[in-house]
Amino acid sequence: MPVHLSVLVQTPAHSGIGGPLTYLSEEALALGTLVRVPLGQRELLGIVWPPQPQADDPVPPVKPLRLRAISGELTGLPPLNASWQALIRFTASYYQRSEGEVALAALPPSLRELSPVQLMRRLERKAGINKTGIKKGKTETADALQTQATPQVALGAPPQGLALTAEQETVLGQLAASKGPFLLFGSTGSGKTEVYLQAVQRLLQSEPTAQALVMVPEINLTPQLEQRFRQRFEPWLGPGCVVAMHSAMTPAQRLASWLAAHSGQARMVLGTRMAVLASLPHLRLIVVDEEHDPSYKQQEGARYSARDLAIYRGQLEGAKVLLGSATPSLESWHHSRPASEDKPAGRYVRLHMPARVGQSALPLVRRVDMNRQPRRTVFSGVLLDAMRERIRMGQQILVLLNRRGYAPVLHCPSCHWKSQCPHCSAFQVFHKLDRSLRCHHCSFAQAVPRACPECGDTDVRAMGRGTEQLEELLAAQLEGVIRPGGGAARIARIDADSTRAKGALEAQLAQVHAGEVDVLVGTQMIAKGHDFRRVSLVAAIDTDGALFSSDFRAPERLFSLLMQAAGRAGRDAQWSLQEGHGCEMWIQTHFPQHPLFDALKRHDYPAFAQEQLQERAQAGMPPFSFQALLRAEARTQEAAQAFLTAVAQMATDLPGAHQLTLYPPVPLGIQRVAQVERAQLLVEGTSRTALQAFLTAWQPLLRSARQQHRQVLRWAIDVDPLVI
Ligand code: ADP
Ligand code: ZN
Ligand code: ZN
Repeated sequence: MPVHLSVLVQTPAHSGIGGPLTYLSEEALALGTLVRVPLGQRELLGIVWPPQPQADDPVPPVKPLRLRAISGELTGLPPLNASWQALIRFTASYYQRSEGEVALAALPPSLRELSPVQLMRRLERKAGINKTGIKKGKTETADALQTQATPQVALGAPPQGLALTAEQETVLGQLAASKGPFLLFGSTGSGKTEVYLQAVQRLLQSEPTAQALVMVPEINLTPQLEQRFRQRFEPWLGPGCVVAMHSAMTPAQRLASWLAAHSGQARMVLGTRMAVLASLPHLRLIVVDEEHDPSYKQQEGARYSARDLAIYRGQLEGAKVLLGSATPSLESWHHSRPASEDKPAGRYVRLHMPARVGQSALPLVRRVDMNRQPRRTVFSGVLLDAMRERIRMGQQILVLLNRRGYAPVLHCPSCHWKSQCPHCSAFQVFHKLDRSLRCHHCSFAQAVPRACPECGDTDVRAMGRGTEQLEELLAAQLEGVIRPGGGAARIARIDADSTRAKGALEAQLAQVHAGEVDVLVGTQMIAKGHDFRRVSLVAAIDTDGALFSSDFRAPERLFSLLMQAAGRAGRDAQWSLQEGHGCEMWIQTHFPQHPLFDALKRHDYPAFAQEQLQERAQAGMPPFSFQALLRAEARTQEAAQAFLTAVAQMATDLPGAHQLTLYPPVPLGIQRVAQVERAQLLVEGTSRTALQAFLTAWQPLLRSARQQHRQVLRWAIDVDPLVI
């Protein structure tokens, strides 16, 4: 007698099919079991899920005339456990997406594509079963997975870490002593990574099946961290105890990592934000390195914050959560505030490691007042002199400019033509190396015109500058400087353009590490995480824009970028303590008196944070309020805004609405991208509960309003947006 089975499948975000679909099955299957089901003409991966509660819906759902049967069960895999299911449910409801979308997107793509037979073969191959032919039936494949499901157990003695510094020892003691969540506030080079390694080791040693999840913001930081973890743990727990998870892996690699984590075989998962939704049945510790990094926020689909989900997941599964940063997000800083006279302490435990390991010192911060330099100066004379001296001493220099390409815009002095992108409200950036004009928003590229397209003048000029131009300029200005081994200064550039080819970034970084580069010019890519040993001078060019940006988070991002960049200097005492030539960070600015630079000079994150938090409290901005954005895209700006205005009018009586402010619709900063007009509406209030209740009630109205506003191409809700 077939039974009814609720199955979650990947449904389009706004189809209105939020919950699971009903199928027939020969037998009842455990929640979380992976199955294949027919949908229309297709066959999809699905997850057995609790039926949708038909709460206070007065109209009974329309039952399809004929229920279809599931096509098969992925018998080799244990079901996704209850905590994972709860995590998915929370993510979907908090970020206002369907459970089907969130759940299926959290599984590796090839799991969605493989048939049960293909998957079984894959599992059997992994388990080393060599029998030929297709095996079907539960017991065999279940056995196959069982063989590999044993967690990696010790092969040898636990690894010897470094002898800990007093600060590291204290922090590890505090980690053991309370439940957390923890915010580890540690200077760049204070040995945070070593704390992560030892925290993980202590856990794995005490519990033979425990798993740890370690997250990093950027793919380009994963190989370095992965190497440190492998070196430390593989001799002890064997190969396969550490797996990586990030989007640059092949589908086969992602499947292998996911299976290893899901089966409990992998004890450590290192990954980018996607890893927060991995199935980890024995999760006991989550580390979020560089927790302030914006790349933890997903910017499409379900726009979740992996850092915030880590906190939730830790609570859900009883796992400890350790966030780490030298410049924490203001949210985490606020949540870890100590108790004051009138207010209790925040929810997080703050741990502190102010000192750098060994003798290395933080760099001296020097400001160059660009108001006193001749107009159009790119590199001030004093900075150039300092650079020349470093090169003569055989030291390395980083030059940071957050704008790639040669020049942000081409223009014609005769008729004022500018290289506007035909598809976006943005300029096409001039890339000199391949003589192209490229839009960084829609990727539209074309050859640089020989003459002005408007008036024919051949004197078309570059305005402003990017990394390409800095590289060229430096080569000219450092000409004749001889480094110790003889020969001219070697200049290299690292940015999204120079690292497009697979492996290019690794190769370039290796050159820097090997000392084959004297001056490295680049975007924020060079500021993060790298342990450059011989850098003694870091220079930031042209950062003033962020001081007066309309984005209230711009100063926070600038401060953290500059602190990170400064942290690249003087990591090796040998280079940072040479008599009279300590390491330095140079900042060229028109606003040398700005308090942000004062705090930076003192390496005083707490002072910077306090000032910023005061401003935010006064203005009622996060973390003192909660926000969500409703974005709409349409062919015309009017249509996008009309939709937003209409749905705002419908919303006045919704639950929570009276506790919230709905601001008038506005165009996005970059209003038009790829011929699509974009507008948004900000919802803000001091109660997260009210905001959540409101958004949930608003969803169906948005879906139906979309039917009336045919010109609207898309809409999306962004909860806790990072960019407003
Ligand atoms: P962070 O992550 O805080 O920037 P790292 O963990 O990368 O710092 O440590 C900086 C450097 O100090 C690394 O080269 C690391 O190997 C070294 N280090 C860390 N802890 C110790 C220790 N206890 N003893 C000696 N060297 C250490
Ligand atoms: Zn012209
Ligand atoms: Zn464009």
